[in-house]
Amino acid sequence: MNLKEVFTYRDKCLICNKELKVFINDYPQLILSLHENGIKISSSHNKGILILFNFDGTFETGRRKYGVYKDTLNIIKGCTNCNYCFNQLPEYNNAINFGGTIKFKTRGIGYSSYFSAIENNLTNLKNKHYYYSFNIAPDSTNKTYAVSAYRESIKFNDNISFWTIENSQTLKTSYITHGKFSDTIEQILNLELPIMNLSNIQTTDQLISKIKTYITMS
Ligand SMILES: [Zn+2]
Repeated sequence: MNLKEVFTYRDKCLICNKELKVFINDYPQLILSLHENGIKISSSHNKGILILFNFDGTFETGRRKYGVYKDTLNIIKGCTNCNYCFNQLPEYNNAINFGGTIKFKTRGIGYSSYFSAIENNLTNLKNKHYYYSFNIAPDSTNKTYAVSAYRESIKFNDNISFWTIENSQTLKTSYITHGKFSDTIEQILNLELPIMNLSNIQTTDQLISKIKTYITMS
């Protein structure tokens, strides 16, 4: 997927249908907004950081040199309404509407490992969350960038049974966990499947029927 496709991939939460918010992992001070030809990432003062990732695959930066211009940026679109995990983080308080930012974890540990840790913990199955994330990796020599590592994560329940779905474009795999809260660990279904295409899925009901089709076919 190119930047435009991945950025507009989903705007509303698959669980609650509320508008998703955008965050730049590791850079709480940066604001992301759309501009005419792409995405603009900037700091709040006008001589600060400025990056324009154009949808044509090129990027431009402000004149001053900042280290961030060479960094791979991890962009997250997530639902703050459902996201129990987001709410648990002290940095959440700093997040404002669209363009607000959340620092999830110290640099180096990373967002994904933080969430893997959460998802492996069965006591958290009553939580809900929806987010997807992707990386923008700039190539400063050619002034181009690559979009990669798109990932989508959905976790929900109806008080009786729970579902977690991890879609990894990098691994081309969907991981599904499903069970009832009354189940023993042995009864919980853990599946690894070829990645599901969820682009036309808008609700959790549609998602469940899609998974059931997949399970039947595999
Ligand atoms: Zn939601």
